[in-house]
Amino acid sequence: MTLHINADRLWQNLMAMAEIGPLSKGGSNRQTLSDLDEAGRDLFRSWCAALDLEISFDTAGNLFARLPGTSPNLAPLVLGSHLDTQPTGGKFDGVLGVLAGLEVLQVLRENGLQPQRSVEVAVWMNEEGSRFAPAMMGSGIYAGMLDLDTVRATTDAEGITVGAELDRHGYAAGSDPQAKDIHAYLELHIEQGPVLEAEDTEIGVVTGAQGIRWYDLTVTGSEAHAGPTPMALRRDPMNSVGELIESILTIGRRDDDARATIGCFNASPGSRNVIPGSLNITIDLRHPSEAELTDMDASLAALLDALRAKHPGLGFELNQIWHSPVVEFDARLVSAIRTGAESRGYSQRDIVSGAGHDALMVARRVPTAMIFIPCRDGISHNEAEHIEPAQAAAGADVLLGAVLDVLKVNPQG
Ligand SMILES: [Zn+2]
Repeated sequence: MTLHINADRLWQNLMAMAEIGPLSKGGSNRQTLSDLDEAGRDLFRSWCAALDLEISFDTAGNLFARLPGTSPNLAPLVLGSHLDTQPTGGKFDGVLGVLAGLEVLQVLRENGLQPQRSVEVAVWMNEEGSRFAPAMMGSGIYAGMLDLDTVRATTDAEGITVGAELDRHGYAAGSDPQAKDIHAYLELHIEQGPVLEAEDTEIGVVTGAQGIRWYDLTVTGSEAHAGPTPMALRRDPMNSVGELIESILTIGRRDDDARATIGCFNASPGSRNVIPGSLNITIDLRHPSEAELTDMDASLAALLDALRAKHPGLGFELNQIWHSPVVEFDARLVSAIRTGAESRGYSQRDIVSGAGHDALMVARRVPTAMIFIPCRDGISHNEAEHIEPAQAAAGADVLLGAVLDVLKVNPQG
């Protein structure tokens, strides 16, 4: 017998959650640790109470709902994501992973299946990072990538600290976030990109995440008057820009998985009749292979050496300001997801995550994998974010299949 999730119930829950902090164009606004975020968590907790799940939380504001196993000492299998949203967020980013996890627990409950190992749904604190930066705070603290005291001192635009909000909502009474023991972690999420929809594929088996390197590049020359200064006598950083931009973008075209983005480009002082004294340029390089990313980094350094030789009057200073290493998900869990999709008859392909997710933090500590489903036009962080009920159901069904596989539960009948 193949167990399936209840597609109608999952969809009703998604729509009910979207009514907490509703926006006029169909989205939701539940920014981290606000009253609306807490109201969303309260709704989630009311569903958990109806299933007699055990609720716990930690001092980082992470919330867990447990279906106890027959061997409660075993570390739990955890499913989850986040309920906080962008200020003009969609209905599904994060919410799907939490409510699909709840749906899986409900299916286990109503079929009288009590696995040996406990199963939990996690609601991680502040995945979005819009009210309080950086993103993925709760999962980052769990993973040891962020420090709780530093996070608590972080303020929003009004000067309110994370710590004050955690205390106001009662999370100070929680357990030590890093003391939690997790056996494995699975997260269902919308793709937030266009690939699955373009290929008409139902399930993305996420094998890991791109490594990211961020750079600030400053090109310096000499400020001068646009009129009296002949072209040949200028030290104009713009002279290098044609080759510079084209060569950086070429680094991103080396293969289908590489990305190079120049997101900010500022000339200083920024006056139409002044030859700029300097250019400030941001560069974002990404690749799912750490070796390839290192090679792209070397290409960037070589490019700047070549430009220095060609433009001796200009200065080129490159600073790498952030490096997020490649994440490779657990092979055993990835294969459980592949098998789950195959045995349930869904089309699938491997995919690498281009966005940040709680799973990428959790993966630094425990075996982890993710499932993606398509979203319309690849749009997310937007009220227009949209999925079809059947797409949500497919993702949750594959999550259920992977859970049964990890727990070694074979429903009889
Ligand atoms: Zn998300």
